Amino acid sequence: MNYSRGNCPQKRFLVGIDRDGTINEDTGDYLGARPSWKDSLRFCKGAVRGLEKLTSDPGTLNVVVTNQAGIAKRVITEARLQEVHEYMASWLVIQGIHLDGWLYSPHATPEQAERWRTEQGIEGYDECLVGDFRDRKPGIGMLERAAELYDARLDDLACVYVIGDRASDVETALNAGGVGILVNRPEHDPETLKVCELRSEMPGRVMIAADIAHAASLILEDMQKY
Ligand SMILES: [Mg+2]
Repeated sequence: MNYSRGNCPQKRFLVGIDRDGTINEDTGDYLGARPSWKDSLRFCKGAVRGLEKLTSDPGTLNVVVTNQAGIAKRVITEARLQEVHEYMASWLVIQGIHLDGWLYSPHATPEQAERWRTEQGIEGYDECLVGDFRDRKPGIGMLERAAELYDARLDDLACVYVIGDRASDVETALNAGGVGILVNRPEHDPETLKVCELRSEMPGRVMIAADIAHAASLILEDMQKY
């Protein structure tokens, strides 16, 4: 869905945007798992405005990159996840916002599976999706696939940005040689503190913003350097 293939030489910047807690409010479960999921979908403050800013710039490719271990856990199917993304994408299109792709990692880490087993008594997860997968953030597989959709490699791009509400989103950007921007976290939140540490190690490649709208401004300003 929603992918336009082909070489886009004018697209020099890739922006990977986390979904839960970044674009939509994180409900704490897997969006789409419950039959009433459409009622619990809320966009985060500044998300629509920020996505509008990013997608209005002709130089950016904007893709959602989301870890969805609920598929490995078998609490949501890939078909339902696609339905969620189609619903969100069509709602955004009504606002005039077209994202270039919706990529997800259905994988879980062995640690997650262990917790499901020991804390929740869940045995029926999909073992094929448990492991150390490059697609699962902070792995960079989804960013690589996003670049490939445009016949490019990450190295061909001027810069890769990742916006997200967790330190692992920022780490994803750093693993791809790019710039990570943490959003939607209070000042003393543990994720903010982790990201502050990363920022002191790699100034210039780590930023903290209030929300996607703020992150978009920082990105558009940073892009001027290239
Ligand atoms: Mg998130």
